Formats: sequence, C-alpha cells, structure tokens
Amino acid sequence: MSDLSKYFDYNATTPMSATAREIWNEASEQLWHNPSSLYREAGYAKQRLDDAREDLADLLGVDAPERVVFTSGATEANNAIVRYFSRSKRGKLAFSAIEHPCVEASVSEFCETGGTFEIPVDPGSGVVDLDALESGLRSGGLSAVSIMAANNETGVLQPWREVAALCREQEIPFHSDAAQWIGKMPLEGLGECDWITGSGHKFGGGKGVGFLMMPEEGGEDFHAAVGGPQEEGRRAGTENLPAILAMVGALEEMSGLDFGKERAEGRDRFEARVKEELGIQIIGESAPRLWNTSMILLPREKNLKWLTRLSGLGFAVSTGSACSAGKGNPSRVMAAMGLDFDEMGRVLRLSGGWESTPENWDALAGALVSVGAEL
Ligand code: PLP
Repeated sequence: MSDLSKYFDYNATTPMSATAREIWNEASEQLWHNPSSLYREAGYAKQRLDDAREDLADLLGVDAPERVVFTSGATEANNAIVRYFSRSKRGKLAFSAIEHPCVEASVSEFCETGGTFEIPVDPGSGVVDLDALESGLRSGGLSAVSIMAANNETGVLQPWREVAALCREQEIPFHSDAAQWIGKMPLEGLGECDWITGSGHKFGGGKGVGFLMMPEEGGEDFHAAVGGPQEEGRRAGTENLPAILAMVGALEEMSGLDFGKERAEGRDRFEARVKEELGIQIIGESAPRLWNTSMILLPREKNLKWLTRLSGLGFAVSTGSACSAGKGNPSRVMAAMGLDFDEMGRVLRLSGGWESTPENWDALAGALVSVGAEL
C-alpha cells in the first residue's frame, strides 16, 4: 500500500521520509564500519555518531549530548527505564492508566506487587489526573513517575510540563514516553524532563531505532543492555549508524515544521462532518490533542466491519493501538476513559501524517459516510 493520501495509521508507523531514506542509503554504503573499531573509517563512523548525538541533544534543548542514548526504539528504552526505576527502594513507581503497553507491561514485569501507583485519567478528556499525582507526590511514597507526552490512541496531550515541575519540586525522577509527541509537536521544554523516550519510525525516521534521554545527574548505574562499551556502557550492542543518522535527519526535518492550529484543519473538518452525518462521538474531544489523530466511537456494528470495508476502499485505519489491535485485546486506554465492552469494540483510530491534506481527510469522511450507509 503506497497511496499515502489514504493512509491514516501514522500513529502505528510512518514511511521513512525522503531525507531519511537518502541519509540511510548513503550511510549504508559509506558508514558501515563499526564506530568502536580503531582504524580510520571507524573513526569517521564514530565522528558521525557523536555528531548525531549532539544534533539530537540540540533538538531536545539539552546541552549535554552524553544524556542521549541510542536504542532500538521506544519499547526497549521504556522497558529499560521502568526496570531501572523498579530497582529503587525509595517508594512506589507512579504511572498513568493510559501508558503504552510497553510501559505497562514493564511495570507488571519488573515492579513488585504493591510497588506501583496508578494515576487515573479524567474519563471525559483522557487527561491524567494531576490532583491524584500531586497527592501521591505529597505522600512522600513515590520513587519515580512515568507519564507519556501524547497518547497513541486518542492523541490527547498530557500535561508533562506541569508533571515535570511537580516532580522537580519533590526531587522525584520523571520519565515521559514522548514517542507520539516527538516529530509531531514542538520539542521545546522536553529537555527539562529527567528521562525521555522517542522512536524513529513515528516520525519518518525508520524502524528499529530510537533513543532515550537520561537525567543530567543520577542514572550512573543505568543500562538498557549489558555487554560491550557502546553508548558509554549504557546500551551495549553495535550502533546502527545508518538508522541513527536517518532518524536524527528526519527529526531535524520535522522539528522545522509549523505545528500551529492550521495543521489540524483537515482532521477538524473530518470530525465535524462525521459527527453531523453519522452521529459519531470523538473520544477525548474536549482535551488538547495531536493535530493528526481522531479516535472515533462508531454508532453501530463492530469496528472491524468498518475497518474491513474502508480497507476495501483503499483506506488504512486502525481499531486502536497497533499492538493491541492485532490481538483483539480491550484497550486499557479506552477502559480508563470509561468505555464499556461494547463501546470498546466500536472505536476506530484515524491518524494522518505531515503530508495528509484536508482533501485527504474529506475523502476519508466521504468513505466513512458511505460505509455507514451500507452497514
Ligand atoms: N510508546 C508509544 C506511545 C508508542 O505509540 C509506541 C509505538 O507504538 C511505543 C512506545 C513503542 O515504540 P517502538 O515501536 O519504537 O518500540
């Protein structure tokens, strides 16, 4: 499927941008040597790796490039950070009820029973309940906090700046999984979080590559993988230099874009039409959301029926997060927002991209209306 005008699953993954592809191709030909080796070509590779780290740190507003650790993606980074947090004996790990499965599963895997504190979201908006977090922080029983920056299913933006400030006051480490934020929203301020994770394939940077950002102080005994001395020993394994360079190039490209209100024009027009013509509800509509995402509650029939018919018309959409959609598991995010079992089977996630035009969104609305008439 290469017709991007009908591709509305960018939150699951994105095609590599032309810039990233070019960088990747060139680096695969020229820069395939191991950056840890000692001959001249390896030195070039090491230099490019260091430059990429500096560029990424700059983009994140961080003046210490050594805070950046390249990984295979956000799942690895989130797993490693939660595992690291779970080793603290200081108190409970707080995480929100709408975290991505890779955070939630790491919490279940690594934290002892009773060692966690789940922060609810407001059911109407899907925004984390800051009062609940504050009372947890005031109780003095938290060791760390993990709250995502933007939700992958609803696109609802989370108040990570406020959370970062609250955590700083209490000197509690704060991690934000920013996999859906980075590349779609301005990066300013992210460097003020202690820990951040990002993923290349969410912003045209290619799959199997991502990064985490560590705090300026602390985290000395952190490691995502043990073995060789790569990434200052914090993530052993030969660096995938072409992928890293492509990812940083894509982020440079995306972060130069304007993320003003106009970017949501197509999505907003789509939502107005399907609300009016199909009686569709928009999940998280009252909250600030990513400009590219619309999570809708269909009026009747299972989401898979709609998805299959839309797919027959060439449109790629999702029933939720790609990970749980394939498995048919009910979404924790939808449960946290108070949807019942029947409603959870009627949600569709539509997520456009940087090049999706308002006309592409109009075509999607038209297709949805015609599928609605059939069902
Ligand atoms: N976190 C969020 C919010 C995501 O949307 C995703 C992707 O689905 C991930 C983490 C996992 O990212 P990756 O595919 O790089 O492991």
